[in-house]
Amino acid sequence: MKAKFKLIFDQYRYALNIVWKSSRGYTISRLVAIFFKAVLPVAQLLFMKLVIDELTAKGGFDESRKDELVLYLVYLGVVLLLNGIVQNISQYIEGLQQQSVADYIAGLLQKKSIAMDLELYDDPAYHDSYFLAHRHGLSRPIQLVADLMAFVENLIAILFVGGLIFFIHPLVPLLLFISVLPSALIKYIFSDKLFKWEKKRALMERKGFYLNRIITEAEYAKEVRVFDAGLSLSERFQALRKVLFVEKKSLFGLRARMGIGGKTIEICAEIFSYAFLTYRAVNGMISIGELAMVFPAFQRGKTNLSGVLQSMVKLLEHRLFLSHLIGFMKLEPKIGNDENALPLSERITSGIELREVSFQYPKTGVDAVSGVSLNLKRGEITALVGENGSGKTTLVKLICRLYDPSSGELHLDGKNYKAIRLSDLRSKMSITFQDFAKYFLTVGENISFSNLSGDEDTASLEAYARLTGANTFIDRLPDRYDQQLGRMFEASAELSIGQWQKVALARMFFKEAEVLIVDEPTSAIDPLSEHNIFENLRELARDKIVILVTHRLYNLKIANQVVVMSGGKIVERGSHDELVALDGQYAQMLNKQL
Ligand code: ADP
Repeated sequence: MKAKFKLIFDQYRYALNIVWKSSRGYTISRLVAIFFKAVLPVAQLLFMKLVIDELTAKGGFDESRKDELVLYLVYLGVVLLLNGIVQNISQYIEGLQQQSVADYIAGLLQKKSIAMDLELYDDPAYHDSYFLAHRHGLSRPIQLVADLMAFVENLIAILFVGGLIFFIHPLVPLLLFISVLPSALIKYIFSDKLFKWEKKRALMERKGFYLNRIITEAEYAKEVRVFDAGLSLSERFQALRKVLFVEKKSLFGLRARMGIGGKTIEICAEIFSYAFLTYRAVNGMISIGELAMVFPAFQRGKTNLSGVLQSMVKLLEHRLFLSHLIGFMKLEPKIGNDENALPLSERITSGIELREVSFQYPKTGVDAVSGVSLNLKRGEITALVGENGSGKTTLVKLICRLYDPSSGELHLDGKNYKAIRLSDLRSKMSITFQDFAKYFLTVGENISFSNLSGDEDTASLEAYARLTGANTFIDRLPDRYDQQLGRMFEASAELSIGQWQKVALARMFFKEAEVLIVDEPTSAIDPLSEHNIFENLRELARDKIVILVTHRLYNLKIANQVVVMSGGKIVERGSHDELVALDGQYAQMLNKQL
C-alpha cells in the first residue's frame, strides 16, 4: 500500500516537475489568477443579493438608501469587470503555457528516442510505447496542472458558496453533494475503461495510421498509383477503423446510458432543493433577496463541486495516461555511454578486430552473423561481398556499434568496444548506408549532416562534393549549395536517385572520419562516376580503415582483402586475385557478372 502511494506520488511529482521546469513564470501567474477566479464570482452573488434586498426591503424602497444602492451596483460592476479581465488574462497564459510545456516534452521524448538502441525499432512493443507516450505525454502534464488548478479554484469557491448556502439552510449543501456525485463516479469508471481499451488497441491504431501514410505520402505515391493500390488500401484502412469504431461506440454508448442515469439523480436533487427553498420563501423563512441569491448560488455550487470531484477523477485519469510517458522516459538504452568508459586516442593506430562475433536479431531465432573473426587495418580497404541476406549490413551495424553482438567481441586498438566511450567510438566512423537517407534540407545541410559542427562554407562543401562528382549537378542548381531539396517545401529541387546517392557519399566524406563504411555505395551511380568515386576512395584509404560492401566485384582489385559471406559466416577471404585463383564462390560470382 505504501509503495503504491509512493508510486502515485512519484508520477504526479514527475509531471509537475516537467511543468515547473518548462514554465515557472506561467505557473506562478496562473496560481495568482485562480485565487481571483474563485473569489470574484462569490462577491458577485453577494452584491446581487444586497441590491435585491435593498429593493425588496420591508416598506418598499426608501429614497434615503439610494446612495447605498448605487454603491452596491458600482461594486457589482467592478467585480464583473475584474472577473472578465482575470478570465482573459488567465486564458492567455494558459495558451502560452500549454505550448511551452508540449514543446518541452517533445524535446524530452526526442532526446530519449535518440538515445535508445536501434534494436528497439525492431520491436513492436517499443513503437506502441512511443505512440502512446507521444499521444498522451505532450498534453497530459499540462492538463494535470490545469486540473490541479481547477481543483484548487473550485475548492476555494465551493467553501465560499457552500458557506453562503449553508446559512440559508444546512440541508441545501447536502442536496448539492448528492446531485453531483453520480456524474463524477461515472467519469471515473469510464476513464479507466478507456485507458485499458487504448492500450489494447494501440497496435491497431498504429496500423491504421501507417496505411494512411502509404495512401497519402509522397514516398509511396508512385507505386500506389502505378499498382492502383490506393482504393484497396483505403478499404483496408476503413475496415480497421470500423473495428475501432464499433468498440468505441459500445464504450461511449455505455457512458451515455450511465450519464443519463446520473443526470436524472442530479436533476431530482436539484428540483427538490428549489421546491424546498421556494416553500421556505413563501412562508417567510427566507427573504426574496436570499432566494434570488440561493438559486444561482446552487447552480454555481453545483459547477464548483462537480468541478472539484471531476478534477479529482481527472487527476486519477491523468496518472493512468501519464504512465505511458513515464514508462517511455524510464526506458534505458542497452548501448549507453558507460561512466567508466575509456576515451579514445586522437588517432587509431592498429585498427578494428572482430573476435568470433555472432549476432541474432530479437525474436528471429537465427544468427544473422555467425562466428565472424576479422581484422580491419588502418590503410586498408576490406570488401564484404555475398548474396542478399548473407549478413554484410548486419556486420557493418555491429562495427558502428548500432548493435552489440550476442557473443564474441569487437576491439578498437585493442580496447573492447564496450569499454570505449560511445560518442568517441562513433566520432571515428562515417558511413553511407544502402538505404541512405534523403533529407529535405538544403544541399549544404545534406552534406554537412555528418558533422553539424563542421566547416560549412561553400568551398569546403564543394571539396567533398567533388570526391563523388556531385559538384557538377549541384553547380547547375539555382541556389547551388543553398538549394532546398525534395518536393516537400517551396522552391525546392528534386534529384535523381543516383544524384541523391552522390550527395549521401559526399556526406560520408565530409565527416573526415578514420573509419569509412560504404554499404552498396554506387548501386544507382553511372559507371564513369563510379570509377572516380572508387579512385578517390582508394586515395583516401591510404590513411583510413575502409569497409566496402558491394556487388560490383570487378572493382575489387582496389581492396586489400575481400571477405565473402554466406549465411552470416565468412566462407572465403583473400585478395581479389587470390580468390579468383581459388576458383570458389567469389570466382563464380565474378564470372557471372563479367
Ligand atoms: P545483407 O546486407 O548481406 O544483404 P543483412 O545483414 O541485411 O544482409 O541481413 C542478414 C539477415 O538478417 C537476413 O536474413 C535478414 O532477413 C535479417 N535481418 C536484417 N535486418 C533485420 C532486422 N532489423 N530484424 C530482423 N532480421 C533482420
